[in-house]
This record gives sequence, C-alpha cells and structure tokens, in this order.
Amino acid sequence: MRPRHISNERNVHCMQYKGNPVSKGIAIGDVYLYKPVTPEISEKTINNDAVEETVKQYYDLRDKAQTELLSIRNDLESSGEPDKAKIFAAQETMLLDVAMNAGIEELIREDLLSPECAVQKTYSKFARLLSKSKDEQIRERVADLKDLETRLYRIWFDVNVQDLSSLDKDVVIVAHDLLPSDTARIDRSKILAIVTETGGDTSHTAIIARSYEIPALLGVDKIMEKIADGETVIVDAVTGELHSSPDSSMLEKYGKKREEYKEYSREVKKYLGTEPVTIDGVRIEVHLNIGSADPTELAGSLYTDGVGLFRTEFMYMSGPALPTEEEQFRVYRKAAIEFGERPVILRTLDIGGDKHIEGLKIPIEDNPFLGMRGLRLCFENPSVFKTQIRAVLRAAKYGNLWLMLPMVGSLDDIRKAKAIVKEVKNELSREGIEYKPDVPLGIMIEIPAIAVIADIVVGEVDFASIGTNDLCQYLTAVDRLNPKVTEYYQSYHPAMFRLIGQAASAFNAAGKSISVCGEMGGEPMAAAVFIGLGIKKLSMGLSSVPEIKKLIANLTLSKAKTLAGRVIGCTTADDVELYIKEELKEIF
Ligand code: PEP
Ligand code: MG
Repeated sequence: MRPRHISNERNVHCMQYKGNPVSKGIAIGDVYLYKPVTPEISEKTINNDAVEETVKQYYDLRDKAQTELLSIRNDLESSGEPDKAKIFAAQETMLLDVAMNAGIEELIREDLLSPECAVQKTYSKFARLLSKSKDEQIRERVADLKDLETRLYRIWFDVNVQDLSSLDKDVVIVAHDLLPSDTARIDRSKILAIVTETGGDTSHTAIIARSYEIPALLGVDKIMEKIADGETVIVDAVTGELHSSPDSSMLEKYGKKREEYKEYSREVKKYLGTEPVTIDGVRIEVHLNIGSADPTELAGSLYTDGVGLFRTEFMYMSGPALPTEEEQFRVYRKAAIEFGERPVILRTLDIGGDKHIEGLKIPIEDNPFLGMRGLRLCFENPSVFKTQIRAVLRAAKYGNLWLMLPMVGSLDDIRKAKAIVKEVKNELSREGIEYKPDVPLGIMIEIPAIAVIADIVVGEVDFASIGTNDLCQYLTAVDRLNPKVTEYYQSYHPAMFRLIGQAASAFNAAGKSISVCGEMGGEPMAAAVFIGLGIKKLSMGLSSVPEIKKLIANLTLSKAKTLAGRVIGCTTADDVELYIKEELKEIF
C-alpha cells in the first residue's frame, strides 16, 4: 500500500508515536526496556614491556568470542534454523577479519593501548565506514559489528547482560536496536511485540520478527527516552502506531482490534494451500519471490505455481568473492529440481542503485539509480554476466528455468543481451558442456520507456514481468529509498495502472506470459486491479500468498474488469485507493 505520513499526536492521557510496521500484528502489554550493558571504555595504556603479553591477551579474548559464536551457531543449526546460524558465521568472519585484527594489533604495539581500547577504536572506525555505505544491507552490518564489540567487552570485563532468552513474563521489548545475538536467542513465547528506534525492512530484527510472527514496529524515533520500563503500551503494527499509557477505552478498543486481527490472520492462513481460482472459474497463477535456494525459501514451493522472481544478486552479496559458475550452477539446479516442471524465473544480476557487492567495482555516481545498474553493469562486466548465463543454461537441464533481464530500457539492450546469450551457448557447445538451448528469455518491465513500447518489445522476448517497485520510482521520479519523498512515491497513481494495463494488453495479444513481481503483486488491492487489466500471473513473498489467494477466491473476473476500468479513469492515487477499498470491503 502507498506509504503515508502520520504525525505524532498528543492527548492528555495517551501519546501516539509512528513507526514502520515490518511484521504485522497488534499487541498490548508492559514495556521491557532493553538496555544492554556496554562498559565505559576510558583511554588506558600499557607499559612497553607488556606489549607481547597484551597482544596475546587480545587473541585469547578473540578466541573466546569465536568459541561462543561457534556454540550459538551449532545450537541454531541443530534446532533447524540455518538462516540464523548464518548471521553468526558472518560475525565470525568479521571477528577474524585480517584488516581489523591488524588494526587492533597495531594500536597495542604502536600506541600502547589496552586491548579494550584498541578494540573500541578499531570497531568504531569500521562501524563508521560501514554506516556511510549507500547500500542499506551493508549499513545494517553495523549491528553485527556492535554485537561483536559488546561480546568482546562482556567477556573481557566478565559482566552479565539482560537476557532476552529467559523472561519471566510476557512483555513488549523496546530497544534502541536489537543485535543479532539478542534476536537469535529470544524467548519468542514471551515477546508480545518488538519496538526499536532503528532498523529497516531488511534488518535482522525485521527478518526475525517476521519469521517468528512477532508484531514489530521499527524506526520509532527516540522512543527509549519517551517511555518507561513497565509502562503499558499498545503496539499497532498494522497501521504503524504505538500508544503509550492508554486509557481504559483505548485498551478496550485495541483489545477488540487485536482479537479481530488474530481471527483475520487465522482465517486468511486457511487459503495458503488452496487453488487460486476466481468465483467464475478463472485460474490465476500465484508464484513466489525468493532470494536464495535455502530450504526456508523453497518451502513455499508447496503452495505456488513456480518462482516468478529469483533475485540472484543476494548470492553475490554474501561474501567478498563473486560466486563461481559451479557455485551458481548448484544453487540454480537446486531450485530447478525443487520446482520440477513449474517455471523458475532467474533474474540476472541486478546490482547497483541500492545494492552493492564487494567483488565488483561499482562507480560512485551522483544518481546511482539512474546510472550503472542491473543490465548496464553486466554489459560493463561481460565475464561476470557470461559466468551467470553459463550456470543458468547448464542448470536448466534439471527443470524449467527461465532467464530474465533487469533494468531493460530499449530494444538495443535486449538485442545486446541476446547476442551475449548466443555467444555463451556457442562457447558451451564448443567446450562440449551440456546445456539447455531453449531457455525462455524475458525482461523486467520496470523502466517506463520499455512499458510504453511493450507492443514492439513483445516480438523480441518470450515473456515479461512487471517490477512495480522500480516502475513507480522511475515513472513518478521518486527515489524509492529516500524517506523525505515517501509521500510522492504513489504506487496507486493512475498512471501506474494505465501503463501496466497497456503492457499486459500487448503481451496478452501476442499470447506471451506477463506477470507482476514487484511488491504490488502481493497487495490484494492492487492485485485485484491487475487481474482486471489482464494479468493472470502474480509473484510475491510467501507471507503474501494467503491473502492473495483469498482475494482470488472471492473475486469474479467481471468484477476485476469493472474495477480496472474505473481505476484507469481515476484522477488521483487517493481516489484509486478509496475506490478499491470500498469495492473490496466485503472481502477484506
Ligand atoms: C521491482 O523493481 O519491482 C523488482 C521486483 O525488483 P527489485 O525490487 O529487486 O528492484
Ligand atoms: Mg527492480
């Protein structure tokens, strides 16, 4: 849904704060103010003759921290949580980082600093560097550094910490930020909701809150100063509001709302395993968006018609080295085997803009979203592009893989990419390596220019998928990441629906597959209109599947067409939203 601004509102009894609801739900409970102990580190030096001993003390400290990380990792792996175990594997890599350790050793040897001072100086320096990154995912690694730093102090000073794994009653956790080791061992049965001052949609806290289904409101400005330990609060992680010191009428109102929401979630979940067919018998395909071939991601295979978007770039972000052809081949093959005859759309590397990888030099640009991004960057780095295509073509023999190009702006882009794919096929044939020659090749429709000429483009490709996240950014000229212009990012702008309708008509007329795989594909209000515009294939994260299937089961194609016709005629995004909401109120 289109983001809105809600100002903080004051009334005599109750304060209202605004946050980002990253994991939906409603909770009422007492605050547990979580302030992890971080010892004060004052500048402390050592004697010249204690240097060797101090360096050894540091490495002993580091070994102890590594042992702790290993034990957490093993616990998580044996309790079937490999994704969380990975967080600690990444922390171990940071702990052993050559540059960081050389920095610490140098401060001890040259500046005669104590181990804790050397750690503090070095970790702060690296945290500053990471926090300046334009890439949100890299910025969020600062939390891992802080986590490690705290662990090192805790071992060094032998201090206890507040323990979120053994709470004695149900609470709403309010914290500046939660570190990965806080969230990984959290006692989920006692946590009613999580509220933090920092953290975005892709932060550890958000990911873990969603997977545990704990309501979470992140980015609530200075909430630690405004709220007291033990105070009762209402967390509405549906609308993104927090109410402190609620009066009895508020408690009653939200108590009802909470039960209604729980009932709603229970009811919606029943749709997860159902066939997505409209009342008048039209089968709509529901596909999955994934970022890896991990078991947790592939679990959605049980309920979906295929993978509508595999964001392969995440594989390139997990370490300093680029994934090899063999590594990629194994991942793609796993996805292909899992889905069998059902299609798995692999999007080629879409890096640049907001996403960076260590292994590829991406130029610093004033307008990175308009610069070297996606396909353009692949053209600049043909060997990286070719390696990926080789892996895809080889893995395609094991299932039904499709190849999709991101950030396509013109026919030239498509023809250039096709020539490269042809080259790769020739190379594989020459080398006598087995591959599938007829892998469908398609494009993301996310640059408006390509949507406008969809009727021309359709002759050049096998399929297309509409990336509404970027399409909205480029169509409305609003940076999708800039919080200052959030209210201008109008994904329900009538222009979006007109353009999507135009592209859908062009592909339908040619009998070629067209889907929507941006966030709007998983939003019931938008999806209803897309179906009316001729889209028969929607792709989304697993958590959106039940709601979309519920929509489909309660919709007729004629109603969807009426909706679409009216939306195309609306004048503003607000009109569009109000109208759809009214029309779908009996379903949602
Ligand atoms: C999109 O732009 O809508 C999309 C699906 O791709 P991403 O969000 O990865 O840019
Ligand atoms: Mg995109």
